[in-house]
Amino acid sequence: MMRIGIDIGGTTVKAALIDDARAVLARCTRPTRANEVLENSLNELHSCIEELVAAAHEAVAGIGVGVPGAVDYRNGIVNEPPNMSAWGRVPLAEILHSRWGCAVAVDNDANCAALGEAGFGAGRGRTSFLGLTLGTGVGSGIIIDGRIYHGERGFAGEFGHMTIELNGALCNCGNRGCIEAYAGIEHLLRHAIPVLRSEPACSLHRLALDAPESLTPRDIGEAASAGDEVCSNILRTVGTYLGVAIASAANLLDITTFIIGGGIAAAGAPLFGGVSDSARERVLNVHRDALCILPAQLGNDAGMLGAALLVP
Ligand SMILES: [Zn+2]
Repeated sequence: MMRIGIDIGGTTVKAALIDDARAVLARCTRPTRANEVLENSLNELHSCIEELVAAAHEAVAGIGVGVPGAVDYRNGIVNEPPNMSAWGRVPLAEILHSRWGCAVAVDNDANCAALGEAGFGAGRGRTSFLGLTLGTGVGSGIIIDGRIYHGERGFAGEFGHMTIELNGALCNCGNRGCIEAYAGIEHLLRHAIPVLRSEPACSLHRLALDAPESLTPRDIGEAASAGDEVCSNILRTVGTYLGVAIASAANLLDITTFIIGGGIAAAGAPLFGGVSDSARERVLNVHRDALCILPAQLGNDAGMLGAALLVP
């Protein structure tokens, strides 16, 4: 049985053709054109599917799609995904089914990324875990007994908006003190740049003064790995915040495996050290020895591969 998995991002559509043995037989990328008109976006999507269908040596049984934002997964309806102005409320499953005739499933992109790690990556062999994607925001998907946990109305897994500081930093959701306001890339850099500028001994001091817009979490991670203490401390602090939220999630759900991916996760050891130490310190005794915090394995492919597994 062949399936197609598609990850629709704000700028790029990534898709793959996958067989029953979970081998990737073909790949395809297109621009999303998310801020033009919807028809342009859909044309890119159809053209991508067409290329993969042509590469399949048997009929494609289903198409799974991951999309940002709140998705009505039961009906396959996308709901005003952020940073995609051409997309309002789009009945994507119906649109793709009527064109391609096969089963179509649509879900939130972070849920797909977690499902991807479950089927192809760091989550293999684990029945339940929480997958985190540290990007511009903090995305997450809860996998319970090998399946996405959607909650009562489909909106479960908003780990990024767990409050960790009562009167903390302002989050994009309008609330204060969400973990996303500490561990999302935008907020991390906003916090890091003044620190780097105030520390002449730091190896990123000059860059933070002259070209702060070019700074990435990877730069901070590489400086930290090369022994820069200022950068190490910045990442460790972010990790500490994340660990506090992870301990709360473990206590609530009795889930002890956490798989962390995304841009900031590439910053590496100091971040993971901070996560691990603070999560262990805060979690209830019953969970401490079982706590397992792993780096994700699939990088940017997680959402696309997980989307293919949405199709039953
Ligand atoms: Zn928030």
